Amino acid sequence: MRARFRGHGEIEFEKAPLGDIADGDVRLRVDVCALCGSDKRLLHSGSPVVPGHEIGGTVVGGALPEGTRGIVYIPVFCGACVRCVAGRTNQCLHLSELIGWQRDGGFAEHVDVPARCVLPVPDDIPLSVAVLGLDTVGTAAHALRLALRTQDTVDRALVVGAGPLGLGVVAVAQAMGVAVDAFDPNPARLATATALGARPAGDLSAENQYDMVVEVSGADAARETAQRVVRPGGTVVALGESNEPYTMPATPRWRRTDCYTVRSFYFPVDEVDANWDLLRGVGAALRDLIVKPLTLPELPEAFARFVAGDHVKPCIVSTDAHLTEVTR
Ligand SMILES: [Zn+2]
Ligand SMILES: [Zn+2]
Repeated sequence: MRARFRGHGEIEFEKAPLGDIADGDVRLRVDVCALCGSDKRLLHSGSPVVPGHEIGGTVVGGALPEGTRGIVYIPVFCGACVRCVAGRTNQCLHLSELIGWQRDGGFAEHVDVPARCVLPVPDDIPLSVAVLGLDTVGTAAHALRLALRTQDTVDRALVVGAGPLGLGVVAVAQAMGVAVDAFDPNPARLATATALGARPAGDLSAENQYDMVVEVSGADAARETAQRVVRPGGTVVALGESNEPYTMPATPRWRRTDCYTVRSFYFPVDEVDANWDLLRGVGAALRDLIVKPLTLPELPEAFARFVAGDHVKPCIVSTDAHLTEVTR
């Protein structure tokens, strides 16, 4: 069974026989596939492929040993260009497809992916934690690693937007030794950020308050706030995504401010080992606070609750009885 997004919020399920596995691919049984805020765009627009791009599963056939547990690296990188050879696979010069966007993803019982996109999970890390190593902790950690290169010290950072990625930034920043404040208009999300150790931000109308601001919402107002509250010489990390242009309005404030703006995409595979260490530290606490396990037939309900803001990180988990580690 697999899910199809027909547009305007409509989800249908279809049963299709599994074909042959293409050369170089592996077939995974999907044990867990998290919902991502970006999937809401596909829910609205519809998708020609099976969506779902935060996948953890077990190899059942193809180019890797059966039983291998892995999480799925979304960008299908070439493995041969100068950036890939340098380990910076998220910067691949021949980036072809994103899994769950241009080829079938994980809202299904099985998914075929290129073998090099399977990141094997260490035995001591449950898949329910490992899957957070993708868009939640992997993306957050890479953004922070890039951003920290711009600063000698960061006394305190502000995280604007406490959705799944923002909460990942809160958790990872502290694990990297950076104290954080958090802002979110939704009190429940802000409470989750504080449960992870963030201090609620105070009045954000004044300029020059933070060494670093990580903007994770993508909203215009939040981008404006980020550019206002960063101190001169500080760093704005533009992580939030939206279809709107990222504007740097040429106000006197902007023209007279020395400032870094950092944009990052996902994470390179050469950071994965360090990310496992981060997950060993913060992963279980993060999972327990944000993950809501549901099953594939419950996907429409999961999205409804997700869009309504009731669940921070719904995860579709396999109903296989032996997968209790995923459902806790
Ligand atoms: Zn995502
Ligand atoms: Zn490449």
